[in-house]
Amino acid sequence: MPYTLLRIFAGLFLISRLLFHPEAAQAATITVVNLDGPGEGFNDPSPPDPASTAGGNNGPTLGAQRLVAFQSAANIWGGLLSSPVEIRISANFNPLPCTSGSAVLGRTTPVTAHRDFAGAPLTNTWYPQALANRFAAADLAPSVNDISAVFNSAIGTTCSFPRVWYYGLDANPPDGLLDFVAVVLHELGHGLGFVSFVDLATGAKLQELDDVFSRNLEDHSTAKLYPDMTNTERVNASQNTGNLHWVGANVVAASNRLTAGVHPTGHVQMFAPNPQQSGSSVSHFDTATTPDELMEPFYTGPKDNVGLASELFRDLGWEITPPSVVSAVLPSSRSVLVDVSAAAFATIINVGPGTAIGCGITPLTSIPATFFYQATNPFTNQIIGTPNTPLSIATGGAQSFVFAFTPTAPFAPTDVHLSFGCANSTPSPIITGLNTFLLSASATPVPDIVTAAATLNNDGIVNILAATGTGVFAVATVNLGAGSAITASADTGAVVLPVSIAICETNPGTGVCLTSPGGSVTTQINTNATPTFGIFVTGMGHVPFDPAANRIFVRFKDAAGVTRGSTSVAVRTQ
Ligand SMILES: [Zn+2]
Ligand SMILES: [Zn+2]
Repeated sequence: MPYTLLRIFAGLFLISRLLFHPEAAQAATITVVNLDGPGEGFNDPSPPDPASTAGGNNGPTLGAQRLVAFQSAANIWGGLLSSPVEIRISANFNPLPCTSGSAVLGRTTPVTAHRDFAGAPLTNTWYPQALANRFAAADLAPSVNDISAVFNSAIGTTCSFPRVWYYGLDANPPDGLLDFVAVVLHELGHGLGFVSFVDLATGAKLQELDDVFSRNLEDHSTAKLYPDMTNTERVNASQNTGNLHWVGANVVAASNRLTAGVHPTGHVQMFAPNPQQSGSSVSHFDTATTPDELMEPFYTGPKDNVGLASELFRDLGWEITPPSVVSAVLPSSRSVLVDVSAAAFATIINVGPGTAIGCGITPLTSIPATFFYQATNPFTNQIIGTPNTPLSIATGGAQSFVFAFTPTAPFAPTDVHLSFGCANSTPSPIITGLNTFLLSASATPVPDIVTAAATLNNDGIVNILAATGTGVFAVATVNLGAGSAITASADTGAVVLPVSIAICETNPGTGVCLTSPGGSVTTQINTNATPTFGIFVTGMGHVPFDPAANRIFVRFKDAAGVTRGSTSVAVRTQ
């Protein structure tokens, strides 16, 4: 059985991240079997590494931190993959090759390979144990673990290699440290199936039979696939730099994420240096792939997502659960002059499992306006990153964005639909008033009522206590456009709910109604004025919690009945 190596270059580019990933719900159970002896490796009783503790790893000893980080990486895979059979990984720290200039970080292999078992999708084809077990819905080799993983204990101890392990869980190691979670994620990728069983040196198939990985390998200069090649042709392909390709349909379909290392056909380059590099050739994506992939042969910095390996695993037959995302827009409406930009903030939340990759915003509704978006720091609202550039969001993480439309011609209020989506997820559901943007553009000055709703728990939900109780929330406004008489009203949108709603303008200091609450209130709102409103929602029956459907909309209309501002909150009986 071949093994695979993850090696390192000096001079790494490290990416820092703000986001933290809580553990994903597991679709496959991955169990770590600690093979280290007393006092060493995963059992090292030394005090915990302070930098790793600061990075969210609360293991009480160095060994415990190693196990916590390992399990965290295993859980990332576990959240993505589904299998009815527990996946067992034996793991330990042992000395591996290491010099002052390079170090093998880890070495991982499937423990057994299986073919022609009950449930095998292909005959006469090898599968690594974890994948074979999934198809068989049974443990095909119960007496041994599925995957064997070894990590280099010489790093930071007996070896002069200057970079040492970081066991934090935030994919944000201090400069110069090696992100253990990323290394485990990479190594487990090999153990789960990112590995060719073809003998690199001779080109011979394992017992002259294909394996599920190598079936997808192509020499683009001959257009032959590995199964159809002679041994010599496979050796040639393995060192045909730039021309050894992965042709599996799922990777090809997602290959537009790459800006380099990909052929115009969508075939993705595999690592094929000449001469061959034992333990690295073939069983990795090419170092040319850009942005850097997790499954490149050299450490490319901290990562908490598996990248295109997710699609490659689909090509192998793994079932991968895509992450799902939800989104919100604030404020939910603007009215601006032609050539004046209408900006708002949006948040995309990744509810998992797994990291959402390439998340961005695309307008779906055609309006005469230019559009841009850019990530922001949610704490400061300062713009970060690059305009119109998608980015990744960790499981359970949220990313805020600013976006803006600049109208090029007048148009009436239009509920603009936006796609909040990621390269490996379906777009978030579109919910009017929550993540749509009501926009109008005028050639003459018009009111532009920018709103912010505040609920008691600041969670965007107005709670009606008991079926016939009353819930309350407030809306603050500022008129960034022309002064006008504005009528504020509230309704339940297209959904009929058993509630009655009253609204009043309030004293901004005390929140007390200035007049008795009624069905609507009309008030003069001058430029830059900041009136506030109170909304009272009285139940006449039970309102179930369905934040996508059951909402209270507050609308601000001018004398002509044109909506110049709006917001909404979810409503429920509690
Ligand atoms: Zn590797
Ligand atoms: Zn090709």
